[in-house]
Amino acid sequence: MELRLYDTLTREKRAFTPIDANNVRMYVCGPTVYDFAHIGNARPVIVFDVLFRLLRHIYGENHVTYVRNITDVDDKINDRALRDYPGLPLNEAIRKVTEKTADQFQADVKALGCLPPTVQPRATEFVLPRPDGKTDMVTLIKELIARGHAYEAGGEVLFDTQSMPDYGALSGRKLEDQQAGARVAVDAHKKHPTDFVLWKQSSPEEPGWDSPWGRGRPGWHIECSAMSAAYLGTMFDIHGGGLDLIFPHHENEIAQSRCAHGTHAMANYWMHNGFLQVEGEKMSKSLGNFLTIRELLTDWPGEVLRLNMLKTHYRSPIDWTLKGLEESYRIFREWHDLAVSIDKIDLETLSAYPKRPKFPLVVAALCDDLNSSMAIAEVHKLRNLMVHGSGDPTAFTDALRFLGLHHDNYSLVENLAEGKKREVEKLVAERTAARARKDFKESDRIRDELAAMGVVIKDSKEGTTWEIAR
Ligand SMILES: [Zn+2]
Repeated sequence: MELRLYDTLTREKRAFTPIDANNVRMYVCGPTVYDFAHIGNARPVIVFDVLFRLLRHIYGENHVTYVRNITDVDDKINDRALRDYPGLPLNEAIRKVTEKTADQFQADVKALGCLPPTVQPRATEFVLPRPDGKTDMVTLIKELIARGHAYEAGGEVLFDTQSMPDYGALSGRKLEDQQAGARVAVDAHKKHPTDFVLWKQSSPEEPGWDSPWGRGRPGWHIECSAMSAAYLGTMFDIHGGGLDLIFPHHENEIAQSRCAHGTHAMANYWMHNGFLQVEGEKMSKSLGNFLTIRELLTDWPGEVLRLNMLKTHYRSPIDWTLKGLEESYRIFREWHDLAVSIDKIDLETLSAYPKRPKFPLVVAALCDDLNSSMAIAEVHKLRNLMVHGSGDPTAFTDALRFLGLHHDNYSLVENLAEGKKREVEKLVAERTAARARKDFKESDRIRDELAAMGVVIKDSKEGTTWEIAR
């Protein structure tokens, strides 16, 4: 089955041919760890997790290397460290902020059913030359200066965009156009307004590393050029991220990597997921519609959030709505109950079904530029076949597992989001209190409310228990 992917650089969908089928290599820009990740941040994590699963399915589990970095040096992190830990030395405060936030991020994306990438390098470990000789930022910057692509000015090292004839190809921006438009904002020390920072000086209070250009810290873009080369080599197969990263971040990654290594490409396929809106509006803290993954997980199981994301093709914009989530919850509940009952079928019964590829149409849908909405439609079809008694029932559960929507040893009650669980327990306690004061109208009302949530109440001499309706 041929895998076809849309490449932002060439603006076409084309057949995917890996450089080395024994080691397919993918890099995705990871989080800057200073605050809880929001649901918009979850989109690339889920999208590229699906691609990672698909590549493993096609090329074999041990033949795909997926690198997703952690940006743990950034001025936003410094600001947060000063705000949250005013009494501590800055470096210590920064470590507290980045470690806490990185742990939160890992827990959040695990709850969304994402596999851990093969490697998750931290930027701060790739600033200076390393004992293992893996590519680092200082060496890359020295190489760029030596090859005439970077210069020192105003206490910074800058990339010279005019030194690269096709700078701007990914985003479709031309240097000439930007010259006029950016006239007002030009920094005096830059040769051209699009020249960007590779290295900047740090004040004694700011985090910094000793470099040939004084004590300072790297610009954001150089981090990804260093970490991708460190684990994937100077050219690799797929580079991914959100649409908002095309310019300037990915444009500048390409410029740095190609000019430092003298290569004609950094990655052969550039993939970008679309934007996410909430209830028809841009998500922002000021509008009060800022949804963190953490908050959503208190109301919904992670699989529901994942399913809700996968209903839309990754390149299309998503409108994240309560209505959509409720629909995803209904679908997931039904699928889940069916999957749990299938998991209980004995092996002898299952062995009667012929052995053959179980969900080829789900895979085929994903092979068409990761058409996850089509893949979901194919899962619905497998479910219908199941319900009508034809076909291998494990085709349905295996397809769910493949998409990260079903796990072994899984129980809906255990997996019910903490917030929902607390809500149920509170209602059960209120109902018990209503019964004790013989307010049966109220206790019936609460029972109905719980039933609407899919919860069944059982009263016995020992007390009241509850479970998820099957
Ligand atoms: Zn990046």
